Amino acid sequence: MAKKIIKDGHIVIYDGGQVSVLENYSILINDNLIEKIDKYENLRSEATEIIDAKDKIVIPGLINTHHHLSQSLTRGMKSVQNLGLFDWLTKLYEVWKNLSYESLYVSSLVSLTEMLKYGCTTSTDMCYLFPQNSDAKLEAVIQAAQELGIRFHAGRGSMSVGISNGGLPPDVNTQAESEIVRDSLRIIDKFHDPDPMAMLKIDLSPCAPFSISKDLMMETRKIAKDKKLLCHTHLAETLDEEVYCLEKYGSRPAKFLQDLDWLGDDVYLAHCVHLNKEEIQLFADTGTGVAHCPSSNMRLGSGIAPIVELMGVNAKVGLGVDGSSSNDSGNILNEARMALFLQRVKHGASCMNVGDAIKLGTIGGARLLNRTDKLGSIELGKAADFAIYDLNTLEHAGAYAQDPLGALLLCNANKADTVIVNGKVVVSDGNPVNVDTEKITHRLNEIVRSKFLPVPEVK
Ligand SMILES: [Zn+2]
Repeated sequence: MAKKIIKDGHIVIYDGGQVSVLENYSILINDNLIEKIDKYENLRSEATEIIDAKDKIVIPGLINTHHHLSQSLTRGMKSVQNLGLFDWLTKLYEVWKNLSYESLYVSSLVSLTEMLKYGCTTSTDMCYLFPQNSDAKLEAVIQAAQELGIRFHAGRGSMSVGISNGGLPPDVNTQAESEIVRDSLRIIDKFHDPDPMAMLKIDLSPCAPFSISKDLMMETRKIAKDKKLLCHTHLAETLDEEVYCLEKYGSRPAKFLQDLDWLGDDVYLAHCVHLNKEEIQLFADTGTGVAHCPSSNMRLGSGIAPIVELMGVNAKVGLGVDGSSSNDSGNILNEARMALFLQRVKHGASCMNVGDAIKLGTIGGARLLNRTDKLGSIELGKAADFAIYDLNTLEHAGAYAQDPLGALLLCNANKADTVIVNGKVVVSDGNPVNVDTEKITHRLNEIVRSKFLPVPEVK
């Protein structure tokens, strides 16, 4: 592959942990790696393909550590707009019964295209819905990611405990545990790439303590350790879940996971809103990662996660948009902004700064996925994954002259100009290049109108 130069941008680097901006610097990309960072005149002879970054800020590609791609099918659903997690889930499960391969594929294309547009270069997904008698498969999600060219962790999710066994989901949305294990092994063998530069990895992502048995949690963990995979689940999102765990298992959610050997540096957990002081320290000591989803936590009224406290003990924290039924937007840069603001609501204005927030969305995410050797920062030898934003816009006017990085995060104008994943341009001039955006928008709306509107309640 020919070499490329990102020319004359404001380059955001993490120098000894401090965030700084190199003014009017250029980056030489060799195939899929960063080869040099220097002034353009020192690089110009080495490449013919130029990506102009004048008046633009170049940050490491953003990393999304929690999502449910299928949820664009029930984005903004009116009957759940004012509900908390358990009631919200109970209503949505009824509509999600209709998931098929095609609807999973199209919703994944829409969700991931949206992620790319705002500068996300690596996304995870927790895909736990495989309704009985449906042809939905994890391949639908993987197909979408591969077509778009986003770096991807496909989470083989699962639910096995339905209402008839004291769980939350209807039985029709659960799978037999033997089938979950069989299909997980099949998917791992077929798709997982252990390479540090991999474009596709498989994670094992059982849904939550209220829809999975202890046996399946332990079996999943065993497979993950055997195959050297990451484990991901929801934890301590709401007080309802805490009550469920105390009543059913006699322990708080974090202790429940600890007893199942489900804490460690190969585990990352979504939300973790309700952690006490000991649990925060336990996460730091074990290397357990937290995928913080501030918009979703606010939308569902779940609470404020102890992010400043987790950062204070050097626990691993990344950012997630969560599914589009509880955020309604796949704008990962905005999650960094929301994380900053939400912590300030709790701790005051000096608790976190703009640089801290950007790091959560980049190197923080890479820590969760154990990929800091190649992802999460702009350094020689790391992956050529970048999000580039134009600061010469009306929305950034004034702020750009004050502080380019502050302008990027504080001004609410998050659409990327150019996005590069693994050395390839996947968003150019604000437009995703590998997909017909109009076509998938139209098709998703058609599918939602025919299959994913809630059945009106009979009064
Ligand atoms: Zn979630």
